Amino acid sequence: MPAAALAIDLGGTNLRCALVDERGSIVFEARESTQAEQGVDAVINRIARMILHVASETGSGPDIEVGVAAPGPLDPRQGIVMFMPNLPGWYDVPLRERLEALVGRRVHLGNDANAAALGEFYFGAGRDVENLVYLGLGTGVGGGVVSEGRLIDGARGMGGELGHVTVSMDGPRCSCGSSGCIESYCSGWALARDAQALVESDRSPGIATAAKGGVPDARAVSAAARAGDPEAQALLERAGMALGAGLGGFINTFNPELIVIGGGLSRIGDPLLNPARRGARAFAFPALSESLPIERTELDGRAGIFGAAALVFYAGAQ
Ligand SMILES: [Zn+2]
Repeated sequence: MPAAALAIDLGGTNLRCALVDERGSIVFEARESTQAEQGVDAVINRIARMILHVASETGSGPDIEVGVAAPGPLDPRQGIVMFMPNLPGWYDVPLRERLEALVGRRVHLGNDANAAALGEFYFGAGRDVENLVYLGLGTGVGGGVVSEGRLIDGARGMGGELGHVTVSMDGPRCSCGSSGCIESYCSGWALARDAQALVESDRSPGIATAAKGGVPDARAVSAAARAGDPEAQALLERAGMALGAGLGGFINTFNPELIVIGGGLSRIGDPLLNPARRGARAFAFPALSESLPIERTELDGRAGIFGAAALVFYAGAQ
């Protein structure tokens, strides 16, 4: 295992770069805004400068490799970003090759959700297991599977899109073009869509109050549910059950020892996760689900940086 990794968490708004050691401590960290509107070259140059800055501040030689976690879809085998939502101009960018030329060290590129699954495996709730399923519930829903210590990502490394598994054939349209995906029920945008419909039809005064006259979002749903609004509670129940139906399928497919739920929506906690736990048990074989823990991430807000670091440790272990 390498002694440390230079980790880059590449998002549409923020860039984070950190040196993470093998024990999962952040030794040094730098943050900048991505300034994605300046285009691909400017962002790549900014990432390279941050890597060289963190390397120089920490005395990290060229043997310390770089992990980049980026929003997909991307080809981790070829090191190519095919497209990035919220970053204009990123089409088929050979990010690995370009960064390696600029920083003079090996670079590993991974989808942020697959990377987060590895982050949990090395540094988070999954550090004592060999088989875990990770779901990251944010604006969209990402995921990753670690089975017998290996990331399951398929022929081109593009698998593990767990959020886009259909749990209802006649469910709502999804951001991916399909319908009835987990994401179409249990994501930031799906909860906002349903909350808005409840407010517009005057069925949830609690959500309307929590939204304070603004556009209702997942946070307003969560606040209203905690304050006892029955429609908000029913909405979280349905979203959680849809997640649970998907989890049931993953449990039967992968027989995990642990399921980790991360992303901003996981902060809603039990009002969302308890129905997911019940759903998972309802839809999976009892022998596989009975004593299976479904837990919230321990890497809150740091999934990106630990995921990026984990890409380096994982590559070093192969
Ligand atoms: Zn979808």
